[in-house]
Amino acid sequence: MTVHACGAHAADLPLVAMEITRRAPGPQDVQIEIAYCGVCHSDLHTVRSEWPGTLYPCVPGHEIVGHVSAVGGEVSGFKIGDTVGVGCLVDSCRQCASCQDGLEQYCEKGIIGTYNGPTADAPGHTLGGYSQRIVVDQRFVLQVRHPQAQLAAVAPLLCAGITTYSPLRHWKVGPGMKVGIVGIGGLGHMGIKIAHAMGAEVVAFTTSESKREAARALGADAVVNSRDAAQMRAHAGSFDFILNTVAAPHVLDAYTALLKRDATLCLVGAPASPHPSPNVMGLIFGRKAIAGSLIGGLPETQEMLDFCAKHGITADIELIAASDIDAAYERMLKGDVKYRFVIDCATLGG
Ligand code: NAP
Ligand code: ZN
Ligand code: ZN
Repeated sequence: MTVHACGAHAADLPLVAMEITRRAPGPQDVQIEIAYCGVCHSDLHTVRSEWPGTLYPCVPGHEIVGHVSAVGGEVSGFKIGDTVGVGCLVDSCRQCASCQDGLEQYCEKGIIGTYNGPTADAPGHTLGGYSQRIVVDQRFVLQVRHPQAQLAAVAPLLCAGITTYSPLRHWKVGPGMKVGIVGIGGLGHMGIKIAHAMGAEVVAFTTSESKREAARALGADAVVNSRDAAQMRAHAGSFDFILNTVAAPHVLDAYTALLKRDATLCLVGAPASPHPSPNVMGLIFGRKAIAGSLIGGLPETQEMLDFCAKHGITADIELIAASDIDAAYERMLKGDVKYRFVIDCATLGG
């Protein structure tokens, strides 16, 4: 089946309308008519070949929400009309220790990403959510329980939501903890909302003075301009956990200096070029850790969606037409997003 999509034919070309094919649903498959797809900074890194290995044509998009339009004969958990989501993964080996623990994102055989992953389907690599329809194995489809009116604002939970929720849970963020969120973009604004809902004291770090009031409205108890050394020093040695979402290289010592003894700076931002090497003494004196975290597995993604539905959490979004995507990427590079672009997939193609 041919459907309309939006993607790029090369790293240095703009995204254009294109037609792609989707497989007919197999016995385990769920066919989804995509209503909305969020725009993640990883889409930009991939489509412009800022990370190695992009295959073209590239159709990005891994923050997908929509409605089920067909199911295979062996599908049990989904029926036509259900509101569902698909995140960053569409398959994994299902047998390794990580997959069996429901941590499919760390599959030891390698994950199959929603875009740019290997597949038997044409053209030999997966094509993502900037499209009208997707067909996904039921194991990688999530139930969305938010009200229909919030659907566009739910889309970003499928990547920005789970990528912040998972480390906040892993490092047991909750009441009595002081937590920093660095970078108030798509991921960071979700991190503020979720850490606040988990009961932590939340401090937002931003390079954009203009986001100060908004960060408070998102749930931050305090906001620090990370370019102001005096504001940074005022928080030295006081954090239980810091989550860093920044998409560009920067000096990490500024944040390890703010950790308490035994605390962790977790990186989720994945810049195209490396951060300067951290000061080892800054880690040794205080037994501090720098860690990383990748999205989340399927069980935890469902848990996150249900947590957000229960707490009334969605993303703050700007809805765009598919034809606006390149302009949206340029604004994202300037940090000018409040706080996630979401494509209205009704604007694709004809
Ligand atoms: P985004 O919306 O562009 O937000 C990034 C924020 O970082 C900006 O809004 C900005 O916030 C801050 N920033 C500070 N200096 C910057 C600079 N020089 N260039 C760009 N941003 C700067 O991006 P996102 O979608 O949240 O993604 C953030 C990063 O996480 C990307 O690298 C993405 O690929 C990665 N990611 C990782 C995972 C994972 O599983 N680990 C999942 C999804 C995305 P202020 O204005 O507040 O300073
Ligand atoms: Zn993403
Ligand atoms: Zn596996």
